[in-house]
Amino acid sequence: MLEVSDLMKNYGRKQALDGVDLRVEKGETVVIMGPSGCGKSTLIRCINRLTEPDSGAIRLAGQPITDLNLHELLAVRRKIGFVFQHFNLIRRLTALDNVAMPLRLQGVSVEEANRRAECALGKVGLGTKLQDRPDELSGGEQQRVGIARALALEPEIMLWDEPTASLDPILIGEVLEVMEELVQEGNTTMLIVTHELSFARRAADRIVFMDKGRVVEEGPPQQVFEHP
Ligand code: ADP
Ligand code: ADP
Repeated sequence: MLEVSDLMKNYGRKQALDGVDLRVEKGETVVIMGPSGCGKSTLIRCINRLTEPDSGAIRLAGQPITDLNLHELLAVRRKIGFVFQHFNLIRRLTALDNVAMPLRLQGVSVEEANRRAECALGKVGLGTKLQDRPDELSGGEQQRVGIARALALEPEIMLWDEPTASLDPILIGEVLEVMEELVQEGNTTMLIVTHELSFARRAADRIVFMDKGRVVEEGPPQQVFEHP
């Protein structure tokens, strides 16, 4: 589903990615872990093309996604659902409109966009809060809107960039629960950056450890966590 090879990225003199290789198979849940500053965000942002890598290749469903023109880039973005650390919701829009808006921008009819948005919000447990605005929702609920927005795109892959890192500790559980349900369903390929060890242990098919811009170890949770 996703193939990253020898990805390099510098910010000026600062090396963020130093030759990353990574494969994610269809339906797989891969969790990326590693110390702050090791390049996790940069990797994820290169994959959804919020950041341009300096060199290396990224293929999604067999298609190269580096060196794209704007039209091709928009087509690729449709296949990728992105969940941000800071939610990135539009404050004056309702939950429903926050989720439906990207679909409408893709040319989906208003009725169909609303239907898909309602369905996705139901899935994350917000079926009764469709008309609430972000200010009226808790942080955990706001992030669940963010998850619904990614889900409603029916993406081939979902990328998660520390989705619980900006939440109050008592709200983290509800978001992890929704994430785990989605993983259990197994409909979507997932690439998740998180520091949540117990979630990773339960939900990941494979854990990838990064350090200093490189992949330093990977394997199924029982293998990598029981390393001496
Ligand atoms: P992580 O997500 O693992 O915390 P990042 O990918 O955010 O790591 O960052 C990797 C390295 O690149 C860090 O040293 C960080 O300070 C640096 N970095 C990230 N983004 C930028 C940027 N826009 N400009 C300069 N340096 C950056
Ligand atoms: P996160 O932990 O969510 O990756 P960061 O605090 O690392 O967030 O980065 C937030 C933003 O600042 C990102 O757009 C990142 O590219 C940028 N950034 C990170 N480190 C640096 C840096 N050393 N210099 C300039 N920009 C940076």
